[in-house]
Amino acid sequence: MAEIIKLMPEALANQIAAGEVIQRPASVVKELVENSVDAGADKITVNIKDAGRTLIQVVDNGCGMSEKDAFMSFERHATSKIYKTDDLFCIYTKGFRGEALASISSVAEVELKTRQECDEMGTQVIFSGGEFISQTPINTPKGTNFAVKSLFFNVPARRKFLKANSTEFQHIITEFQRVALTHPMIDFSLYHNEQMIYSLPKASLKQRIIAIAGKNLNADLIPVEIDTSIVKITGFTGKPSSAKKRNDKQYFFVNNRYMKNPYFNKAVLLAYDKLILPDTAPSYFLYFEIDPHAIDVNVHPTKTEINFENAQDIFRLLQAGIRETLNKNDVAPALDFDNAQIADMPYFSKDTPMPEAPQVSYNPFYNPFESTEKKYYESKNQYTDYRAKNNLDNWQKLYQTSNNEEIAELPLETQKSINESNKILQVKEKYIVSPVKSGLMIIDQYRAHYRVLYNKFLEVADNNADNTQSLLYPEKLSLDAQSTTMAYDIRDFLTSIGFDIDFTDMQEPVLKGIPTYLEQNDAIEILTDIIDSYKDGHGDLSSSIKDVLAKSIARRKAIKAGRQLSTEEMSSLIDSLFATPEPNFSPDGKTAVVILPIDEIEKKFL
Ligand code: ADP
Ligand code: MG
Repeated sequence: MAEIIKLMPEALANQIAAGEVIQRPASVVKELVENSVDAGADKITVNIKDAGRTLIQVVDNGCGMSEKDAFMSFERHATSKIYKTDDLFCIYTKGFRGEALASISSVAEVELKTRQECDEMGTQVIFSGGEFISQTPINTPKGTNFAVKSLFFNVPARRKFLKANSTEFQHIITEFQRVALTHPMIDFSLYHNEQMIYSLPKASLKQRIIAIAGKNLNADLIPVEIDTSIVKITGFTGKPSSAKKRNDKQYFFVNNRYMKNPYFNKAVLLAYDKLILPDTAPSYFLYFEIDPHAIDVNVHPTKTEINFENAQDIFRLLQAGIRETLNKNDVAPALDFDNAQIADMPYFSKDTPMPEAPQVSYNPFYNPFESTEKKYYESKNQYTDYRAKNNLDNWQKLYQTSNNEEIAELPLETQKSINESNKILQVKEKYIVSPVKSGLMIIDQYRAHYRVLYNKFLEVADNNADNTQSLLYPEKLSLDAQSTTMAYDIRDFLTSIGFDIDFTDMQEPVLKGIPTYLEQNDAIEILTDIIDSYKDGHGDLSSSIKDVLAKSIARRKAIKAGRQLSTEEMSSLIDSLFATPEPNFSPDGKTAVVILPIDEIEKKFL
């Protein structure tokens, strides 16, 4: 019988392996930078062109390679690392499969220059599409210089599936940050198309975190030190007051490797319970040191999940440890969420005297879209049309009480005053309660107002041509480098919605104009929000960004729980709410209106 099993050609096998290890330019950056770290470098420079399509270059001053090793390093399963350890799981270095270079060189053109300190001459090795091209002696500084060109040139399918440059570069930044955050004693820099994105000199861990995550974190980081027999956890966690929606500054590292861990994330969030608003999350940078035998580092190199033997114990230690850290730092007074003015509430220590509540009265219903509001109410007909168009008959029904059928027939104004007189109540400064035909209607005041402002913003944003107001005093934006790049990427969009930013100095862009419909303080926070959400979407700037913007503005401006409302205000809020197409839900899809049916009420009295 003829033999049909043949060994795959080496180049093909490498290409297949590359499919696993090298998914995108960012994977190459990760592998090369980790190799440089493993080589003991204390200075690593990354040069990227066209988000890595054209060039990914990593230069280090580490131990370098001998002439023979330089060639050998491209062989599959060539590694100087694993044979040193007797146990695959007992791994402290980054790479351990000896697969990265073989994979990369099978799907790109790779030029390696390297020299060990003890050698006078260095060596240059070139591979292309898995084929050895040449090796020559060369003068080169001590250390290693990898240049990966034309990535995926021979795998058109992969090349085609690469995303927009901004997205791919975003992934590169993410990998770069993860390594930089674990090695503050290494000087890292990152360039994109000759432009400096990061320059991170050797630093303390805290300085490194701030250099990556932004200066504004400086005052918000609390040192963490949880030392137990199972695990040691150090690093920093954010003050509750700095918690944010969509917080992406959350990092766990295990034995200096980045790890994703939703379970431990939960432990941290529980530690912040009642200290932060429900939808927000703190920043944290937590470094676990643990006996490598107690974890299962997934041997798949691209995975970031890690299994822990004592996951539950660690969960409890983490939760308790972070909570204690917060308590020690006096940021954790029991905050009465039901009574506190939780809107932008700063956290006071037990000893700080509470400042007096401001006496200035103001209209909580002030909204930046006043003109639109007027438009809605210009004539009652229009208002009624609007309601009819949006199928608001239910609302009419809600307000018809069984013994007052005629109310619905009354002009709206009269209806309103009837309601105002005795049928609207505020409960716990949070809910608006009013009897309706079928029972009791309960409205969450914040979600309702959020819905109202959101819809108004969308309307304004869609037909606002000249929408920039110049700032008298242009303001330097203290964005981190990554956010600056993101902002630069979406500059056209930002201009279109009224932001005028001068990017001449990429280190410190200047905000020169803001949307007419915002105040300056809000504008900067909202700008940050937009950039963050752009990051979350991995750089896909779709029409939904307008939606994100609308949400972010509306959330900020909406009256919060804890605000006392007058009957007129409640009534006007109810009107505006039911004038929107989706009054029952907040723009985030959370319930804004609940009806407690009569029969439910009656059941309670059985
Ligand atoms: P691994 O990192 O899993 O060992 P790689 O394919 O990434 O596998 O690298 C193969 C080998 O090449 C490494 O084990 C190391 O000996 C050598 N090497 C790779 N990059 C460098 C570098 N920047 N400096 C010195 N040696 C390197
Ligand atoms: Mg490696």
